[in-house]
Amino acid sequence: MKAFSDLLALVYPEICYACNETLADGESMVCTSCRAKLPYTNSHLLPTEHNPLNNRFLGRINVENALSFLTFVRAGRVQNLLHNLKYKNVSEIGDLLGKWYGYELEKAGYKDKFDLILGVPLHTRKQKQRGYNQADKFAQGLSEALQVPWSDQVIARIAASTTQTRKSRLARWENVEKIFEVKQPEKVREKRILLVDDVLTTGATLEACGHELLNSGCKSITVATIAAA
Ligand SMILES: [Zn+2]
Repeated sequence: MKAFSDLLALVYPEICYACNETLADGESMVCTSCRAKLPYTNSHLLPTEHNPLNNRFLGRINVENALSFLTFVRAGRVQNLLHNLKYKNVSEIGDLLGKWYGYELEKAGYKDKFDLILGVPLHTRKQKQRGYNQADKFAQGLSEALQVPWSDQVIARIAASTTQTRKSRLARWENVEKIFEVKQPEKVREKRILLVDDVLTTGATLEACGHELLNSGCKSITVATIAAA
């Protein structure tokens, strides 16, 4: 079997999903050098009042904390990882990063801070196209490391948000108001929710999703993303 896998490695060398270099023996998905050099935000180690990511949600939605594993860097390792995760069908990256970040969070005392982990849902059409929701893959990895349940049944995306630019201001506002719908409010009530997505930019999507969860009576929301732009 070893000879066979060596042969396979010659024909299809396994490459690092962050830097595209060939992986060494014993390395998997992301090489040792990238693991050392990735731009970690370490937002989970900061006191919440000193965590700059929280400012994105200030005055918009009340979140306990806003966490991100990595800083988004264009044309670099983080963009490569996300590109492979979203467009190259490498769903395992979401799981890997989720477990990895979950382990870091656990070490920092986050193990008992959440009751439920939810990924920001994709529109059904988009999820069918891609075959999976990258946010759910991240959620699954986090769930395994933190030993907190996750679900992809609790909240759904009922409107695609990409067509907003062509709509009138009023229609746009209505669209933003109702992108998401909580399908199982009984699972949300009084729960401390960790809401996760792939990238944090303006925070508008997480905000819209979070508002629906708060309206359904959840106790608190912490947001976490793979990368923050
Ligand atoms: Zn690498």
